[in-house]
Amino acid sequence: MTQVTDHGGGVRSLKVPIPDNPLGHTLVHLLDTDRGPVLVDTGWDDPESWDTLVNGLEACGTSVAEIHGVVITHHHPDHHGLSGKVREASGAWIAMHAADASIVRRSRETRQERWYGYMAEKLRAAGAPDAHVAPLLAARASGRTRTMPGLNSALPDREIVPGELLDLAGRRLRAIWTPGHTPGHVCLHLEEEHPAQLPGSGRLFSGDHLLPEITPHIGLYEDPDDATVTDPLGDYLDSLERVGRLAPAEVLPAHQHPFTDAPSRVRELLAHHEARLTGLLSLLTTALTPWQLAERMEWNRPWEQIPYGSRNIAVSEAEAHLRRLVKLGRAEAVTGSDPVTYRAVSA
Ligand SMILES: [Zn+2]
Ligand SMILES: [Zn+2]
Repeated sequence: MTQVTDHGGGVRSLKVPIPDNPLGHTLVHLLDTDRGPVLVDTGWDDPESWDTLVNGLEACGTSVAEIHGVVITHHHPDHHGLSGKVREASGAWIAMHAADASIVRRSRETRQERWYGYMAEKLRAAGAPDAHVAPLLAARASGRTRTMPGLNSALPDREIVPGELLDLAGRRLRAIWTPGHTPGHVCLHLEEEHPAQLPGSGRLFSGDHLLPEITPHIGLYEDPDDATVTDPLGDYLDSLERVGRLAPAEVLPAHQHPFTDAPSRVRELLAHHEARLTGLLSLLTTALTPWQLAERMEWNRPWEQIPYGSRNIAVSEAEAHLRRLVKLGRAEAVTGSDPVTYRAVSA
């Protein structure tokens, strides 16, 4: 049986499992509209997850065939994975912010070997040892095509325009652009009175942007075809302040559980990142590559125990923090270093 929670006021959530992932599940939200039910996110593309979604919709007195539309917070496979199947079964439209839609479009067009080559080059430039880069080069050379999730995800039909109300009959759902975790991440603000009259301004579907107990991954926006120097952590911190100012009565995130007092969660996350940036500056009294910085940063377990794929994520997180420090003028690249190293700028 799918776990269904009724949040009142025509909003329910379904716990859709994510296989082999410590997060456990995605909270897929079901929003009633006058033209039929609409989903906020869909879940991971896996047979068990699909069955859970289908059964959950039936437990809600509807069915996947009845779905009228799909609103996607961001393109990651635990949110957008099942969107294509839902559209096939129902004829529903899929809406996504343009920045994430273009990632979906490019991922569909990019050959897998190109990704391996791009990742290998990026890691080498970040100072990764040859032993770490070698498996990527081998995979590219062998043309091995272990399908990576998200490379064939559904192209959306509609664009989510920041600041605008979505076209939902009888509901007021406004898109709030919250880049950082991905460039086109959106939160969706349900501008309606809270069903239990909790104080605050409506309810916020927060995707991965604002979660009650964990911080979302902030890396660089990976794109083999775009050399723009972005600052995702800076985007994320600005986006946090944006949703803090909304002061929703309740937050309905895509993982973990609903919570209230968004402004205090926002303050905690801002303080967390500020402390982390300060901690990194003290490491950067010695010039370090992003890889060396990642090795020295604090993670949920010692570096030696962090598996291969998670190390890549850790390095991109270190790079996002370095970007931020460089942008703030608190760190700088060491001229002539190769791979490039960074050091703190003495005040
Ligand atoms: Zn995500
Ligand atoms: Zn997620």
